[in-house]
Amino acid sequence: MGRWDYSVFWDEVMKQTKSELGDHEFAMWFNIQYDSSAESTILIRVPSSFYKDQLERQYRRYLENKLFDLMGKRIGVDFIVVKPTPSEDQAMRSQDEYIPPEVAARPRASGKESGTKIKEKHSQLRSDYTFENFVIGDNNGFASNAALAISKNPGTSYNPFLIYGGVGLGKTHLMQSIGNRVWQESPKLKVICITAEEFTNEFIQSIHDKTTQNFKNKYRYVDVLLIDDIHFLQNKLGSQEELFHTFNALYDANKQMVFTCDRPVSELKNLSDRLRSRFERGLNVDLQPPNFETRSAILKKKIEAGRISVPDEVIEIIAKNISTNVRDLEAALTKLIAYAELVHREITLEIAQNQLKDVFSQSKHGNVTIDNILRVVADYFKLSYNDLKGKKRTKNIALPRQIAMYIARDITEYSTTELGFEFGGRDHTTVMHACQKIEERLKLDPNLESTIQSIVRAIKDYSSKA
Ligand code: ADP
Ligand code: MG
Repeated sequence: MGRWDYSVFWDEVMKQTKSELGDHEFAMWFNIQYDSSAESTILIRVPSSFYKDQLERQYRRYLENKLFDLMGKRIGVDFIVVKPTPSEDQAMRSQDEYIPPEVAARPRASGKESGTKIKEKHSQLRSDYTFENFVIGDNNGFASNAALAISKNPGTSYNPFLIYGGVGLGKTHLMQSIGNRVWQESPKLKVICITAEEFTNEFIQSIHDKTTQNFKNKYRYVDVLLIDDIHFLQNKLGSQEELFHTFNALYDANKQMVFTCDRPVSELKNLSDRLRSRFERGLNVDLQPPNFETRSAILKKKIEAGRISVPDEVIEIIAKNISTNVRDLEAALTKLIAYAELVHREITLEIAQNQLKDVFSQSKHGNVTIDNILRVVADYFKLSYNDLKGKKRTKNIALPRQIAMYIARDITEYSTTELGFEFGGRDHTTVMHACQKIEERLKLDPNLESTIQSIVRAIKDYSSKA
């Protein structure tokens, strides 16, 4: 790495450009690669002088303005023509799914016929949400394997496939990986990927435009239908009805459906029973927050994909301190890299600790306080807050109190001593004992786990509004 390296900013500019221009225009003009940086310029490789001219005329100012917005200083963009060698060209294409304009302009040929695997990018799928970029870990092993099996034989094994779990745990990524794999491997299959919100809006619009028949045809004749965030359908009875019929048509025709949801289907409210039972019919799997090993592996994968080196000890403190979800993990890493780039320094443990101090302490406690936990647990068991915190030891109070301690130990970073204090001035051994008791019970009582999970969700909900 040279003294100057603005590649992180450049990557961000490319990301924004792509979303602003749309995939088609982006694929047409941005077959370009970061080369190097000098103090006040970035050098970009382009494949021909034709590109160079066009980019200079149409996009240079635009790109420079974007860089200015990001970096707060004027950086020029220069282009250099570097003809890709055939093998590089190939590698680059399969990575970025780039289609040169001359190919994109042709009618779409199936990959097999043209003898290559390069295919136009799917407009609804993010090209980086692939299995290749997804780390299989303790929290998602089963879900990942099911997803891989489905993408090999869509419509045959698990239908529908429903992935649920909290925010930032990889539901969208995993679902889209199925779409991308099918799209690449089976050119003839039609893949649609939308959010439940888009489905709803489009449906309403079609009623308004009197084009519901087109809408129905569009969604009932697909091979793989991916719908993200179906919790959005709560209360939307018209869309539920429409999806119910779509579901039946696809199910009967052995077409694959994949859904994601932020909670188990059983906990969705204002959802028709018949649609609920359809969702529950195939395979429902949950994603959990990743453990330390998986978090480290995810960080390593993200670092591998970039250009900057991050020492192992830094990976370790990030993985240790951010346990909420993968999105937060990524955000911390991005922040650190951007900082190091900006000040032109190698990332060290000290820089990481300083720069991420706030992120770490926020992640530790979030908004979840012991008070919030006590309130939600009391509410759940129809007890009073004071009962739960107080000294009474009757059975109907003792168990909820143990559950509250167990949850507090699980989702906050308080020590048992701190927890004892917060729970009405008890000793830390009381807390440890409570946790052991609940762990034993969890082995015997199959319902307790889901009780605890729904309490935890309620606590997070409550805390995010507090
Ligand atoms: P969700 O849909 O559950 O809210 P996303 O699928 O949007 O979560 O994931 C959040 C971010 O974390 C994305 O950038 C995604 O690529 C990344 N991510 C999640 N799980 C993994 C994983 N196992 N390996 C690599 N990246 C992951
Ligand atoms: Mg999502």
